[in-house]
Amino acid sequence: MKQIKKILVANRGEVAVRIIRAIREMDLKSAVVYSDADRDSLAVQLADEAYYIGPSPARDSYLKIKNIIEAAHLAGVDAVHPGYGFLAENPVFAEAVRSNGFIFIGPSTEAIKTMGCKLLSRSIMERAGVPVVPGAMAAIKDREDMFATARHIGYPLLLKSSGGGGGKGMRKVDSEKELARAYELARNESFSSFGTNTIYMEKYIKNPHHIEVQILADMLGTTVSLGERECSVQRRYQKLLEESPSPFLDHETRSRLAKIAIMAAKTVHYVNAGTVEFIVDENRNCYFLEMNTRLQVEHAVTEMVTGIDIVKEQIRIARGEPLSFTQDHVLSQGTAIECRIYAEDPDNNFMPSPGTVLGYHAPGGSGVRSDSGVFAGSDISFHYDPLISKLVTWGRTRDEGISRMKRALLEYKIEGVKTNIAYFSKILENGEFLSGNYTTSLVENMRLESAAAAAIPAYAQGD
Ligand code: ADP
Repeated sequence: MKQIKKILVANRGEVAVRIIRAIREMDLKSAVVYSDADRDSLAVQLADEAYYIGPSPARDSYLKIKNIIEAAHLAGVDAVHPGYGFLAENPVFAEAVRSNGFIFIGPSTEAIKTMGCKLLSRSIMERAGVPVVPGAMAAIKDREDMFATARHIGYPLLLKSSGGGGGKGMRKVDSEKELARAYELARNESFSSFGTNTIYMEKYIKNPHHIEVQILADMLGTTVSLGERECSVQRRYQKLLEESPSPFLDHETRSRLAKIAIMAAKTVHYVNAGTVEFIVDENRNCYFLEMNTRLQVEHAVTEMVTGIDIVKEQIRIARGEPLSFTQDHVLSQGTAIECRIYAEDPDNNFMPSPGTVLGYHAPGGSGVRSDSGVFAGSDISFHYDPLISKLVTWGRTRDEGISRMKRALLEYKIEGVKTNIAYFSKILENGEFLSGNYTTSLVENMRLESAAAAAIPAYAQGD
């Protein structure tokens, strides 16, 4: 068993606060890093210690491995928690943490590397018998290869960057005449976002569900599933709202997904918390999409239905302890829903709306959890993702979870920046969402409906 007394939180915002809370509940000490923009952040105020790591742009602070390692030495920590985003899935960072003598609270560097490359993980999973999205197993080599592979896969198809994330470098192609241009666009975006121009093709699954399984694995070889999250409410391939359990799955598909997720994790000898993402089609065929080798933004949804604190389990696993429960003890109760509350402008194509929060009142009461790094007077900086909070509600039934969320959204008061709160109220009233059988097309369908209702042609909506 390894000793962990003090942990460096190598992140900012709500996730830094989330991790600091778990550390305190375990009676351990926390140190957090911060940039110029985050001098007065909630995370800095809540941590036992805080270490300056550089100017506001992330590339000069939260992405600077050297500065974070220096902070870890200065703080004299035993371990580093990367949170999500920034360096959380960077194998060079994980290795730097380890080679400097600290414990990395996450999986092996090898697992991060393998799962970080979409193409490599696809072929490893396929070889292990995990069903993957139909498509190519190699990158596009040249023009001729591109057209031949596309004809073989069939349209519509999706071009994807092997280094992808956040929906970047991804382009849907409906017909052969769009292919060459879409490839150029995907390649450029992939290069500017991830420094790679390796692009491959997948069959575009029509009207899919994005459903993912949360897993936890200890160093003693036990891997468990904490159940699934339905993440099909998306805009531009990015999640907006998540819920657990998925109202679309039946018992058989649910246990099949959990089994496949555990098999996927075991294939790469995965240790710590991870998420196996799937595309599920209308006939409930399940296809492996990718694995995220870190704490997931929407982990709180799973925590609400299972009662398991995933961050505390991550720390226990990193100490070499066995999981504090067995698969039989994982009981999912009721429904939890999460809305990602962003500082963004619904009237301007949901563009970020950074600024100073002048007034702030988060909702509370029974079954409501608000994970946030924001308070009245704090700045939502244009340097980072403009996430204000993750608002999660729980109900004994899906209906109760939804009514609580509606009530919580009404209580939320945020002044000084524009937010997407009112948009979530619309989603929660939408018939397709309420039916429980909604797909990743929901947001686009809503846009088309409201455009039709306003009798404005869809092309004039500017989306
Ligand atoms: P990223 O890593 O950039 O987030 P993912 O591979 O996780 O990309 O996919 C993001 C989203 O894109 C999915 O949740 C889904 O909505 C859509 N998507 C991805 N692959 C497919 C596919 N083959 N067919 C249909 N939709 C897809």
